[in-house]
Amino acid sequence: MLDLQSFFKMSYGLYVVSAAFEGKQNGCIVNTVMQVTAEPPKVAVAVNKLNLTAELIEKSGMFNAAVLTENATMQLIGRFGFQSGQDLEKYHGIPCTTDDNGICYPGESVGAIFSCKVISQLDLDTHLLFVGEVDQAADVSKEPVMTYAYYHQVKKGLTPPKASSYKKPEEQSGWRCKICGYIHESPDLPADFICPVCKKDASFFEKL
Ligand code: FE
Repeated sequence: MLDLQSFFKMSYGLYVVSAAFEGKQNGCIVNTVMQVTAEPPKVAVAVNKLNLTAELIEKSGMFNAAVLTENATMQLIGRFGFQSGQDLEKYHGIPCTTDDNGICYPGESVGAIFSCKVISQLDLDTHLLFVGEVDQAADVSKEPVMTYAYYHQVKKGLTPPKASSYKKPEEQSGWRCKICGYIHESPDLPADFICPVCKKDASFFEKL
C-alpha cells in the first residue's frame, strides 16, 4: 500500500534557492534542501524542472540556498513560490543581497545563506536533484527559521492577527485564494480581482 498521508509526517524547512546565468537572476521556493555531508560540507536540493531556477543551475553549475525565517511575509513567499521567473524578474524591486558568486538572495527574512558549486546532478523525472559543495556559508540573522510545518500553519491561519483586533478563524469572512491561501476580507470579490500574493485571477477564489 501507499498511504500518501504518511508523507505529511516528513519534516522540511523553507528556502529560496537562487541561481544566475548570463545576467539572468532567478530564485524559487524549495522545501527540499538538506545537508548530506560535513567534510567537506555538501547540500542536496531538488528543484522542479519547470522552474527557471533549475535551468539556471544546470547552465551555471552554481546555486545558493537561503533559509527563510518565520517573519517572511506571504508576499515574499508568494513572489518566489507562486510566480514564474518567466513572467517576473523576481529580484527586481525588492531588497536583495549578492553572494560571493554573484547570485542574489532575498535581502530580508533570511536566517542563513549557503552558496554551492554543483558536483553532481540526478534526473528525477519531474525534478532535478543537485548536490553542491558549499563554498560560502553565513549565519545572517538570529530570527527563528521557518519550518515547512510552520509555513502551513501560517498559511492555514488565513489572516494574521491584527494589531488592534484579533479575529478568530470562525469569524473570518471573505474570499480565499485556492492557490496560495490569501484572504480577501470583503463580502464581495471584484471580477477583475488579482491575488496580491500569487497573481491568480478571481476565478481561483472561493467564498468562505
Ligand atoms: Fe493567491
